[in-house]
Parts: sequence; C-alpha cells; structure tokens
Amino acid sequence: MITGKTQLLGVIGHPVEHSLSPTMHNAAIANLGLDYVYLPFPIAPENLKTALDGFAAIGVVGFSITIPHKQAILPLLSDITPIAQAVGAVNTVVRKDNQWVGTNTDVDGFISPLRNYNHDWSQQVAVVLGNGGAARAVVAGLTQLGISEIHLLGRNLEKLQAFQQSWENSPLEVNLQVHEWKSLPELISQANLLVNTTPVGMYPRIGESPVSVEDIANLPPGAIAYDLIYTPNPTQFLQQAQQVGAVAMDGLEMLVQQGVIALKMWLQQDTVPIDIMRQALREQLSGRGRGVGSREQGAGSRE
Ligand code: NAP
Repeated sequence: MITGKTQLLGVIGHPVEHSLSPTMHNAAIANLGLDYVYLPFPIAPENLKTALDGFAAIGVVGFSITIPHKQAILPLLSDITPIAQAVGAVNTVVRKDNQWVGTNTDVDGFISPLRNYNHDWSQQVAVVLGNGGAARAVVAGLTQLGISEIHLLGRNLEKLQAFQQSWENSPLEVNLQVHEWKSLPELISQANLLVNTTPVGMYPRIGESPVSVEDIANLPPGAIAYDLIYTPNPTQFLQQAQQVGAVAMDGLEMLVQQGVIALKMWLQQDTVPIDIMRQALREQLSGRGRGVGSREQGAGSRE
C-alpha cells in the first residue's frame, strides 16, 4: 500500500519497461512489510541530469541503472566506489549525505555463485567470450576472485585492444590477455571456467550458441560453463557444456545477487529475503507473474 510516507526506489533506463528489477525488489519489500516502492523510470539520455536533480528533490533513496546510462551517469555522481571506477560503469546509486554515490553490484553478483565452489581459483584459467559491458564486470570479478589467468575473446580487434588498454591504469591488478575469436579452440582446452558474456543464445534466438559443438568438446571435464544469460534456462551453450561433462551456471543467480546487494544498501539492513526475490524472478520469467504477452517482452531483457 502506498502511503504519505512511502519511500522511493527505482530503476532508470531507456527503455526500461523490460526490466525485471521492479518485480524482484517489490516482492522483497512486500515480504519485509516496509513502506517502500520500487518503480521503473524511463529516462531518455538527454534527461539524465534533470532526472537526477528531480530524484534529489523528491527524496529518492536509491536506484538501479540499466542501458544506456551505466557509463553516462559517472560524471553526474558525487562519489564512485573503487570497484565501479575499475569497471567504468555504475549499476546502483545510493543517496548518502545529500549526495549521489554510485557503485557496481554486478561484480559481486557475478562472483557470488562461483564462491560457492570451493576452488582454489589461484590455479585456474578463465576464458571469457565477449568484450562488452558485462565482460567488464566479469573481468573485475575474476580478478577479485584471484583467478590466475583471464583470456578474453572478441570479434573486433580494435575493441579488444581498447578493452585491454582500459585496465592499464586500473586499481585492480588484472591479468588479462585478449584474443580474436579464431583462438577459441586452443584456449577452450585450457579453460577451468568458460564464461559467455555475449547475448548469443538469448531469447528469442534460443537455438544459437557462441561456441560450436566441436569447440566445446575440448572443454576439460569438470570445467564450469557460466552463461550470463538467464533466459532461456538452460541456454544452448549450457546444454552443450553439460553434454561434455561441464558444470552449468546460468545468469539468474547473478541477477538475484546484484539486486540483493543493492537492496541491502538502500534499506541499510544486513538481510533481505533472497528466496523471495529469486522466486519472483523465476515466476516472471516463466510467465506466471505477468502473463504470456508480457513474458515475451521481459524474456530477453538485460539489467
Ligand atoms: P554489450 O555491452 O552489448 O556486449 C555484448 C558483447 O557480445 C560485445 O562484446 C559483442 O561484440 C559480443 N557479441 C554480440 N553478438 C555476438 C556474436 N554474434 N558473436 C560474438 N560476439 C558477439 O552487452 P552486455 O551488457 O555486456 O550484456 C551481454 C549479455 O550479458 C546479455 O545477454 C545480458 O542479458 C547479459 N547480462 C546478464 C546479467 C545478469 O545479471 N545475469 C548482467 C549483465 C548482462 P562486439 O563488441 O564485437 O559487438
């Protein structure tokens, strides 16, 4: 129930109607019985500063950020956490002492399911597919995990070189080598962890995979295949990986965990109902939460 004292949270994006975050956060808020609401705010790029000023004026407590504002918001914030600086993108903003503070919870969200594996990551090799925004959080996360080598593959040499250079003055000591896609067969045979950060295989193009059946056959037994995509579940990539004996991890837990960290910051409390958040997302993704028409819109979404 909205009252005169209801506190505001939300997500900004353009478009934003695809976002799954309102479902996840409002489910948690309802479960906790708190007088908060989490709203989608469609903000066009040219209105970003005006929106921030407006949010300050109406007392917004904090908000999530999705495409296309994750980098554009950086100069508009009073403070940026070291991890968000290292990634070069902010996905969560908190109002603190009348100032906007930005951070990046995708990094810890990505690592969270990996921490449940009691690996000594210092001896492990990661192969990352793609060099976009999510790949930046993945590289930062793998570095925090202490992984020994990161090999990242992309299809555009200039973008790969720019990606590599962007870490040169980073506070993180990133051990990264970039490669063109043709190196995949050789690298995949060394991978203890293979991460897909490309959108290949995401709904509605569910029959596609970023790797061929022949290439994935070279994945060492027991390796982890981690797809950041959360719908369909499993993706073609994860099905291929399971068929050659890999451990499959989908992107849903990353989505849940980045939201959990953000909600704890906004509410200033140590626990939030993670099972409720996960279940709300699963229901929305399976169409039970919103009906089939809306499911199609939300199914291929990015946070
Ligand atoms: P992005 O910035 O657009 O980057 C996509 C990357 O994939 C780019 O490097 C792009 O290469 C590459 N790519 C696209 N199509 C390709 C193809 N056919 N073959 C090879 N590479 C291809 O997108 P993003 O924000 O990083 O998101 C990527 C994926 O991660 C999406 O599926 C998104 O839903 C998912 N994601 C999930 C979570 C989560 O919480 N689970 C969080 C963030 C993102 P070029 O640079 O050459 O174009």
